[in-house]
Amino acid sequence: MVLKMSINLCYNGWPMNGPMRLPVLTAPLSRQGIICSQECKARCCQYIIVKIPAPRTKADHEEIRWWVAHEGVSVHIAQRKWYLQIFTRCHYLTVDNLCAAYEKRPDVCRDYDPSDCEYTGELDIEREFHTMEDYDRYLEEKRRRRLTSRRNSRRRNGVGRRSRRRTAMPS
Ligand code: SF4
Ligand code: SF4
Repeated sequence: MVLKMSINLCYNGWPMNGPMRLPVLTAPLSRQGIICSQECKARCCQYIIVKIPAPRTKADHEEIRWWVAHEGVSVHIAQRKWYLQIFTRCHYLTVDNLCAAYEKRPDVCRDYDPSDCEYTGELDIEREFHTMEDYDRYLEEKRRRRLTSRRNSRRRNGVGRRSRRRTAMPS
């Protein structure tokens, strides 16, 4: 019943009893429509993403470790910004991978650009953490990089090197 109603509500160029567009679509007869509902199966309607501050303290890192210890939760870095991703299917996504709330869909859905989506476009994710082990590896790499950079900077500044200059012996 919900689906039938939404098909009518979401009419936008299709015959009234034809397929409805996903809200992210802009051209009803485009290849994108087929990709979204059949190939991709509406991937972008099956999670939420929240921007988070970059972790700085041990407590921040521990919080992220706790998040990614949970099934369906991940954290990623894209263009040097941090995001929490929770995989959870939208209540309004039908079994046919169509939107049952087209008219009242949130702005996030309206503004989504399907021509540059995660399925058809290039993802700019630099790092992705799905488990505590993923995140621990990242922390370990970070620690090693920090040590190396400290060592290099000490070398550059000559710290720790024995001075070659001789002090004049008292006569
Ligand atoms: S991720 Fe891309 S292809 Fe998949 S439903 Fe969203 S816009 Fe369509
Ligand atoms: S309301 Fe739900 S099903 Fe509709 S476009 Fe947004 S996320 Fe997808």
